[in-house]
Amino acid sequence: MSTPDHSGIANGLARVRGQIAAAAARAGRKAEGVRLIAACKTFDADTVREAIGCDQTVFGENYVQEAKAKWPGLKDEYPHTELHLIGPLQSNKAREAVALFDVIHSLDRHSLAKALSRQCENQGRQPVVYVQVNTGEERQKSGVLPAEADEFISACRNLYQLNVTGLMCIPPAGQSSEQHFDLLAKIAARNGLSELSMGMSSDYAAAVAHGATSVRVGSAIFGNRVYPPAAQ
Ligand SMILES: *Cc1c(COP(=O)(O)O)cnc(C)c1O
Repeated sequence: MSTPDHSGIANGLARVRGQIAAAAARAGRKAEGVRLIAACKTFDADTVREAIGCDQTVFGENYVQEAKAKWPGLKDEYPHTELHLIGPLQSNKAREAVALFDVIHSLDRHSLAKALSRQCENQGRQPVVYVQVNTGEERQKSGVLPAEADEFISACRNLYQLNVTGLMCIPPAGQSSEQHFDLLAKIAARNGLSELSMGMSSDYAAAVAHGATSVRVGSAIFGNRVYPPAAQ
């Protein structure tokens, strides 16, 4: 687990909220139209409690195992919190993911859509789902290719009957994110999807300018992460 910068969490949240509000104002948008997801991977339940104490209600996790260890208890304590899966999901974890998460950002292949669909039916739960798009067409990165997005989104809705409302992307490192945010927005618009999950600590203000409805911010709130060897 990473060691949080305790004095920093309240300050970090205030700073990020301020930047979101400023970016929204510059873009003629309402700050309430942007959901701040606090990406808390590698930080423990007490750190999450501290953020909740600063009125943070929406959290993002990357690993199903880690979320399973932290969240059922936190959800019992704080039923108003909302939990998002922002990391890649293996099909064999679909059952746990459907049980645990309110929103899943990383749907990117038919096998996973099928597994999620079956679990939604079995559990009588229907988490919100975003399709992840590999806007930079990077070989090592998850996400459907932009050229395959329309067809995949349609299958997720019609064939797998999933509650798809948005798209997610992680732009390539080392280049400007703006063109990727615009591409994601364009694909969402032509598919009638209203939610855009884009922007991290380094580029969330730009993401807000380009229409993000969710930004996923970790280190700018909690400080730097230290990964246990097994989590990577
Ligand atoms: C960790 C993570 C984030 C947050 O990253 P920071 O740079 O710490 O803000 C956002 N999105 C995804 C998918 C992540 O894995």
